[in-house]
Amino acid sequence: MPADRSVTATIFNIQTYSIHDGPGIRVTVFIKGCPLRCEWCANPESNLTHPQLMFYKDKCTACQRCIPVCPNHAISIREKDGKYYAFTDRSLCKDCGACVSACLNEAREMAGETMTVQAVIDRVKKDKLFFDTSGGGMTLSGGEMLMFLAFSENLLMAAHEEGISTATESSCFASTEVIDRVFPHVDLALCDLKHMDSQKHKLYTGVPNGKILENIKHIYHDLKVPVWARVPCITGYNDDKVNIAATAKFVKNELGDDVRVCLLPYHRLGESKNESLGKEMDWSIEIPTDEYMQELKALVESYGLTAQIGG
Ligand code: SF4
Ligand code: SF4
Repeated sequence: MPADRSVTATIFNIQTYSIHDGPGIRVTVFIKGCPLRCEWCANPESNLTHPQLMFYKDKCTACQRCIPVCPNHAISIREKDGKYYAFTDRSLCKDCGACVSACLNEAREMAGETMTVQAVIDRVKKDKLFFDTSGGGMTLSGGEMLMFLAFSENLLMAAHEEGISTATESSCFASTEVIDRVFPHVDLALCDLKHMDSQKHKLYTGVPNGKILENIKHIYHDLKVPVWARVPCITGYNDDKVNIAATAKFVKNELGDDVRVCLLPYHRLGESKNESLGKEMDWSIEIPTDEYMQELKALVESYGLTAQIGG
């Protein structure tokens, strides 16, 4: 049965010329909505499924054009450190987007728009020449693409119909039924291993890791999809050598030697995005040093595995 290209989802980014989301040159499609709440999330605008207002205080000149267009009276001028800006009261804001076009300084934008499978694949296939010459393809990411079974299944099928190789980035937190519907259309599964201790996994992400580990083994052994393990290395959360060694042991003993381990050093992009979404952050996470990342890579390699720093 051909893909149903009329299915929709909220897409918050289609990133072209992507080289960190699988092999070759890729287009990465980011779906909005995720069942996890990782404390270090790099894409907090992906947490909720609906489009959301993002506000960039540094671009705001306090011109006040946005104030009268807001039907919910959510915007008012405030002052901080001698700078005036258009504060948005998030308890009143309904993410309607009316203020975005009123702003001439691009200080306001909506994260996310509803798109059909057809619209997404039309954009993706424009780069097919790059895919064919570099061994790349389309990567479906998020948020969590497994939350959107019908869209993900049909987008992956549509990519294959167009002769485009597919990869997915996923926490693998889903039912077996969902896994069995999606992964037959996946050529490479990039699977997150956020913490090997289930209690700590639940503490830091909101969900335990039992079903996740079971699913990754099922994808690799039963569905025969090649897997890369992706380990976000978050200072003070999961980057200790005990956890990285436990991760390497899981890959070696429960998966196979051909599973590449990608160690992803924490970056601070998510922190400024949280501010744009109106979320207060009174903490910040240290970025791991290059030397420490090299030590973690050597640790994984000591188990006879292939490791790399970055996606
Ligand atoms: S998105 Fe809509 S409700 Fe929110 S501040 Fe802008 S105009 Fe007001
Ligand atoms: S229209 Fe834009 S620049 Fe003017 S006050 Fe509103 S957010 Fe700031």
